[in-house]
This record gives sequence, structure tokens and C-alpha cells, in this order.
Amino acid sequence: QHLQVHFPIKKGLFQRTQGHVKAVDDVSFSIAKGETFGLVGESGCGKSTTGRTVMNLIKSTSGQVLFAGENLSALSSKEMLTRRKDLQMVFQDPYASLNPRLTVEQILEEPLTAHQVGDAEERKRTIMRMMEVCGLNPAYLKRYAHEFSGGQRQRICIARALILKPKLIVADEPVSALDVSIQSQILNLLQDLQEEFQLTYLFISHDLAVVKHLCSRVGVMYLGRMAEIGTAESIYTNPLHPYTKSLLSAIPAADPRQKRERILLRGEVPSPSNPPKGCAFVTRCPSAKDICKHERPRVSKVEDDHLVACHLFT
Ligand code: SF4
Ligand code: MG
Repeated sequence: QHLQVHFPIKKGLFQRTQGHVKAVDDVSFSIAKGETFGLVGESGCGKSTTGRTVMNLIKSTSGQVLFAGENLSALSSKEMLTRRKDLQMVFQDPYASLNPRLTVEQILEEPLTAHQVGDAEERKRTIMRMMEVCGLNPAYLKRYAHEFSGGQRQRICIARALILKPKLIVADEPVSALDVSIQSQILNLLQDLQEEFQLTYLFISHDLAVVKHLCSRVGVMYLGRMAEIGTAESIYTNPLHPYTKSLLSAIPAADPRQKRERILLRGEVPSPSNPPKGCAFVTRCPSAKDICKHERPRVSKVEDDHLVACHLFT
């Protein structure tokens, strides 16, 4: 609710603070239990920072992260440690997020020992079962992370995230670093696991096409703000925000007869340290009006479960 994450810009010899980067600037959304919420936008729009803030890995400047009714932002780091079991993260780069000098067994055992789950024997059984569930051969228990391919490494990361039986998984671009041929395997795995373990996902991606088949609801971010939120159905068939429309126009249509006009945006994304005064999208919006230059559009409800922040709809 109303998340803001501002990073200070430090300059010069004395590292004096000179302004702030508003990485996340008043973002609100909710994720229902068991659903997959897709958070989409170009790189630098604040989606990863939002994901890390939801995980409480980054403290928000203001606003709240409510998890099952509890305000995570108000917890001490010690209290957060005990909640860590419930919230896990899968990162983009399976090469960078695994220690190459540890075996799969060591990687998967670490969270179990940290949270004092079971004795050595139980832990081993849990690890082998989790490997199996994630499509890894349990016979490879003693192999090192660097001996696996990218797709298999991401399976190890997913197994590690799942081993404590979390409720929410924040997956930040989990397939972006993988070959296209491997991507759908990992997406299918995530879907199967969701059913089996009743998981809730916050799925972060720069690619609306990837999110399409996975998410029940989607939020589109631009320059630290939420442009539009809706059910996947409404976002894909009836996008309202000019930015969402331009993103969607870049996805090739499945049916070539169905011609979609490509909307090309002018210019670049402005710097989050110096965002436009009114609507964040005003410098690139094909439908910008005068009011857009000086008044920030409020997030308003257009239909049930379809919100948009744009003056065209207020
Ligand atoms: Fe475009 Fe104005 Fe809507 Fe912003 S508020 S998206 S500039 S029309
Ligand atoms: Mg990112």
C-alpha cells in the first residue's frame, strides 16, 4: 500500500546527498492467495525494487507491505527472520545466485538448517524429494552447481526457494537469462508447483508475452509508478493506459491475419531522479493533453478489478 522507495544520490568527496531516485513512487496493489500477479515494465521502472520491498529485503521509505494482514515493514530484522520461511525469492540469473563451490545438497540444506527443520536424515529426504519435484535427478545430490546447465540451475534455485514450503514466491525475471527453448519448461514447472504447493506468485517480467499465460492479474509499471492494474483478460483484450497499449502492440499477434498496429514511442524513459512533474509518461505519450504536464493522474477504477492512472479516464 502506497509504497515509496527513494534512494539518495550521493555525490562528491563527502558523499553529500543530492536529491533522490524515486525508484518506487506510491505503488499499491494486492495479490490474492493462490494467484499469480504479473508485474511488468521496462528495465529501470522499479519492478525489481518493488519485488524486493515486498520481500522486505529493501525497507520502503514509506507505505506498507501487508502479508496475511501483518505489516512486514514494521517488523524488526529478527522478527522478519522467522517470517522469511513464508516469503522466498527466485532471481533472474541462476549463474550468479548459486555458489558454484557448493553441492546441490549443501545449497538445499542451508535454508533447512538455518530454520532448524528436521534432523539430518529428514533433511536429506526433503532435499531429494524437492529435487525430484523440480525435475532434477536426486542422484546428482553431490554435484556442484557449476556442473549444471542454466535451466537446471534455475531448477535448483526454485528447489531452494521451495524447500521451506513458502506461501509467496517473488520470481524476478526467472526465465529471462535462459534459452528460449528452456523458458517454457521452467514456466511450466512454476505452474505445476503452484498447484502442488498452493503457492502465490509475484511474477516480475519485462515481457508482457511471458506473463500472459501465467498470470491471473497484471500490473504495469512505468518510471516507479503503477500505470494500470487489471485481470490478465482485461489488460490483454482491453488495455486502457497508452503505455500498456504500446507495450502490447510490440507483441507479435499469434494470428498473422490479425494485424495490430505497432505503436512506437518517442524518446527515452526519463531519469527517475528527475521525473516529469505531471504524468510520468507525458514525455512519450501519443495522447498527452495539457493537464498531463502538470497534474499527476490518480489511480482510478474503471471497472471492477481494472484500475488506470491516466487523465483520459478521470
Ligand atoms: Fe498520456 Fe496524459 Fe494519460 Fe499520462 S495522463 S498516459 S500523458 S494521456
Ligand atoms: Mg530488474
